[in-house]
Amino acid sequence: MAFAACLLACAGPAKASGAPAAHPASGISSNSEGAGAPIEPSESYPNLGHGSLSPAPPPVVEPEAIQPDAIAATPEPAYPPPATVARAPLLRLQQVAGRDWFVVDRPGDALDLRILPGEVLEYDVEIDLGVGAIDAGDVELSAGRSVMLSSLPDAKDATAEAGRVEVAWVRSTAKGAHFGYELRHMLETRFLPGPWPRLLHKDEQRGSENRNRESKLGLLEGEHQQEYRSDGHCRGCDSPEHKVEGLLPWQDPSHCKKCKRLEHRAWGKVQRQAAPADGIDMLGAVWVARTMVKAGLERSVFPIVDRRRVWQVTAAIGAPSVVSVPAGRYRCRPVSLATTLLRGEPDDKPNPHFEGLFGLQGALRIWLEEKTGTPVLIEGDLPIPVPLVDSLRVRVQLKSAKGADPDFRKLP
Ligand SMILES: [Zn+2]
Ligand SMILES: [Zn+2]
Repeated sequence: MAFAACLLACAGPAKASGAPAAHPASGISSNSEGAGAPIEPSESYPNLGHGSLSPAPPPVVEPEAIQPDAIAATPEPAYPPPATVARAPLLRLQQVAGRDWFVVDRPGDALDLRILPGEVLEYDVEIDLGVGAIDAGDVELSAGRSVMLSSLPDAKDATAEAGRVEVAWVRSTAKGAHFGYELRHMLETRFLPGPWPRLLHKDEQRGSENRNRESKLGLLEGEHQQEYRSDGHCRGCDSPEHKVEGLLPWQDPSHCKKCKRLEHRAWGKVQRQAAPADGIDMLGAVWVARTMVKAGLERSVFPIVDRRRVWQVTAAIGAPSVVSVPAGRYRCRPVSLATTLLRGEPDDKPNPHFEGLFGLQGALRIWLEEKTGTPVLIEGDLPIPVPLVDSLRVRVQLKSAKGADPDFRKLP
């Protein structure tokens, strides 16, 4: 089940066939509480020229195609303008029953998010083969706070507030190891108090394969924009670490062409494009669903920005039912997430499919505890063709909860 272990945490089409990398995988880079990972000053990029768009009143974001010809097949999206644009600070602290909660302001009618720092939820991942289930690894969902250095790419921007800001983060860490294929996949979303970036999303895969992606969303130069970058194997440089020995003794070391070593990967160019004002990433969407249940909201439509694609997501809450997981029995509400593509990536094939959490595809269902919105069970499909099996059902089941919402209680 190396495939399964891989796909479970690969956000992209998995290449699970590879043997374990020759070099040991590095750990996730420091993201520890309070470590204060600074936002790097953005690289320089050409001014893409949005001069024709007026920043106020609330802008109707015209998505800008970076390579218009290449995405001509994508339906023309229309992002509905939010009723109001959220004002900084977009993040504030609120004390409820002796616990600090972060409240993330979202524009217009969008529900404000509520994040509980210190919460750590652990899950077992099971793959249902129809004839039995196998243990495919662990997932941890957590939330916390840390201090970041704030900087803006444009020093002349009047909204620049260089300095230390407290941010709220939510994180998902998936770990699995099967048949020599190892992985650790971290998704992290940081919510910041200022307009740019208001959201910083990281996607880091470590183990037998290594990959990094980073997306920033917010109000930049008066427009709602995304900056996205991803890494790839270095195409050629002078760095001695990127050199590999020749195959034959008399050949000189040369720049490695392709491998899975983390130390051979380099960031690609930052790509900037228009984004919906209330756009969020897939991990953040789990917290949207949580807040919906907590607030008793039955249905919500909002955009998810995943890599450079924009999806419209309809989250609908179903009837209550009792769900049994290793941590206990809970009365839950199921939330289903239905997606429609609003804008593809320039090199997309027709009808790209939505990749949910941990690489799960198809209908993603999350069972959230009725009172608190705490995720108890996440179900989805793994897109792996297996003889005699239609699809592999994955169950991510709560096994322990620390620092959870004080109202989160199991049934007797
Ligand atoms: Zn290189
Ligand atoms: Zn290499």
